[in-house]
Formats: sequence, structure tokens, C-alpha cells
Amino acid sequence: MLIKNGYFGDFGGRFIPETLMNAVIELEKAYNHYKNDPEFVSELNSLLANYAGRPSILYYAEKMTRDLGGAKIYLKREDLNHTGSHKINNVLGQVLLAKKMGKTRVIAETGAGQHGVATATAAALMGMECVVFMGREDTVRQALNVYRMELLGAKVIAVDSGTATLKDAVNAAMREWAARIDDTHYCLGSVMGPHPFPTIVRDFQAVIGREIKEELQAIEGRLPDTVIACVGGGSNAIGSFYEFIGDKEVSLIGCEAAGKGIDTPQNAATIANGRTGVFHGMKSIFCQDAYGQIAPVYSISAGLDYPGIGPEHADLFKQGRAEYVPVTDEQAVDAFEYLSRTEGIIPAIESAHAIAYAMEYAKTLAKEKIIVVTVSGRGDKDVAAIARYRGLDIHE
Ligand SMILES: *Cc1c(COP(=O)(O)O)cnc(C)c1O
Repeated sequence: MLIKNGYFGDFGGRFIPETLMNAVIELEKAYNHYKNDPEFVSELNSLLANYAGRPSILYYAEKMTRDLGGAKIYLKREDLNHTGSHKINNVLGQVLLAKKMGKTRVIAETGAGQHGVATATAAALMGMECVVFMGREDTVRQALNVYRMELLGAKVIAVDSGTATLKDAVNAAMREWAARIDDTHYCLGSVMGPHPFPTIVRDFQAVIGREIKEELQAIEGRLPDTVIACVGGGSNAIGSFYEFIGDKEVSLIGCEAAGKGIDTPQNAATIANGRTGVFHGMKSIFCQDAYGQIAPVYSISAGLDYPGIGPEHADLFKQGRAEYVPVTDEQAVDAFEYLSRTEGIIPAIESAHAIAYAMEYAKTLAKEKIIVVTVSGRGDKDVAAIARYRGLDIHE
């Protein structure tokens, strides 16, 4: 993807107050230097291997494949990473970069708590102070993750503005960064925000797709026909897709949260319902009301409950290189239960959106086709919420 002035085609850029300009320019310069620094690259690779547990397994889901009767299904097991999701890939990269830049403090936003936990983990490992902003709604939905971050030595600040969810946590973190750029790095959790964040986060997550390509080559001797991943801001999806963008025969499918349905007010399906706009420092596609204000969004999954999509996805969509499909809460919960029963793998409810679409899609393909689905995280954090969704009275 040719990136010019921080744009992916028409999308991206840097729409920020002047107070943040120095911080993003300093970050861009540092990143451009360290990404080619052999010592940085080898330190990061060593952290990914010896701390995060990479490479993650590419698992042939044989029972699921047989049961559905269509394409062969492989699962990319990001749920097996340390801290239980793909988030650690980006966080190890950014916290290491911050340390090289001489910063002593990292801040982060978090939705489900996964990115906050991953950032707190990397900060503990590398001896950095850590503050995490989290919408108050999410601190209630994911109370255990709040305690987890505190255990790891981070301070969690509950954000009450707006809908008190992920987008408000991002606003709060950006404000804090502008106020304290000298010693603080803002460790953004997805492929969003002002340039250079969408590029930095994509590069740190691209390890997912590189491994998929290598692992599938070793097992099957060929490329997959389709790669499927869930999309919140879009980091696990772009991480899975990036290596294959030039391989035109590989279809790329992102699964967005349709909540209670794309025809109801309660969804977070940006591509299905959104329009072009500017928010959180980037030009991209967002769920908006008639006046262009960011619309309240909803999903059973805190990690997909974001009203926009990263600019590189907006461009892949516009070019027709990737396709984006909506998946409802109900379909995701069914898939959550199905994968648990069928393969003994409890996926994150975010990842279950990708599993749900793969279940339908695999049936439409011939047996010699190959689908890779990224399991972006593990579902332990969601078990109590799913039980409640099913009407069970479970105490956490
Ligand atoms: C945060 C999260 C997501 C959504 O974020 P992306 O940037 O779209 O990947 C998906 N799955 C899990 C497990 C997460 O923690």
C-alpha cells in the first residue's frame, strides 16, 4: 500500500490540535529510525518469541471442517499469546519504542480491557509508569480486567464523558498526551488515530499474516483462499491481511459487530452504516447521526464497540480489495458456544464474530478451498457475560 503524507488513498491523515503536533512528529521520526535499527528489531523479535510466545499456532480445525462440510478451516491462535490476545504484539513494539525515545510513562485507552492489560503488562516488564483510560461502562462490564491492570501496577482512570465507552477513553487519553508529551508516550491500541499510529500498529501486527503465510506454506504448500478476522478498529484484521494484500487471489473478509441488527439503532457496523468523516485525528468511515455527530454504537463485545474503522480498512473497502460483513450478537454467541463445544477452544466474543461468518461461508465453498480465521483472543473474560446473555444466573 503506497502511503503518502499519512494517507491510504483518501483516508488517514493527521487531524489534531496543534498541541499534539510535536508529539506525533517526534513519534514518526523515532519510528522511522528504529524500525530499521537492527538492535531494535532483534530486541522486539526476542520479546515476541520469549515473552509473548510467538509464533502462534496455525491450527487445523478438523472437527469443525468435517461438521460444516465445506472448505478446510484453519485457526490462527492469537488467543494463545501471553495476556490472551493479539494486543501484546503491538504493545511490546510501542513500549519498547517509547523506552528507546527516553519516555518513562505510557498511557493507553482500553475497551474490553485487553489493550489496557497488555499495555500494563509491557510497562511492568520494561519498568515504565502506566495509566489506562477506560469508559466507566466498560469498567463495569470488564471489572476483572480493571483489577488485573492494577495488579500489574497500572493506574486505571474511569471516563464518564459521552457514552462512557471506548471512544471517550480515546478522547481522554489524547487530552492527557497533549498535556504531558515530555515524558509520556500514548500507546494506541488499534490501527486508528492520526498518522503515524495506523502504520505503526499495522507494522507491529503484521507478524500475524507473515506467520500465517509461512505456516500454511509448510502444511499445505500454498496460499489460503480466504483470510477472515473481526474488526473493531481493525488491528488484528489488518495484521492478518497485510501480508496478503498483494496476493490478489486471496480474499480478505473483515467481520464487524452488527449488535442487535444493522437495521436497529444498536450496532457498531461502520462499513454497513457509516459515512466518511473526521474523528480521533483521522479521516475514515464512522457511524454518524444526520448532523455528522458520532453516533452511539453498541455490541455485546466491548472490543468491537467502536464507531469507526482504521483508515487503511476504509481504503481497502473503497478499492474493493477487502470485503466487510456484519455479524450480530446472536450469531457471535452461537459461534462462541459452537467453537467451545466442537474444538475445545473458547474464543473471545470479538473473535466469535469472525468464527460465525466463517461457519456460514465455509459451507458455500468446495472441500479443497482453505480458509484461515484469526482467533484474536481467548474467551475467559467473556464467559460470565455470555452466561448472562443466555439467562443464567452466574456470579463472577
Ligand atoms: C481489542 C480486541 C479486538 C478489536 O480490536 P482490533 O483492533 O479490531 O483488532 C478484537 N479481538 C480481541 C480479542 C480484542 O482484544
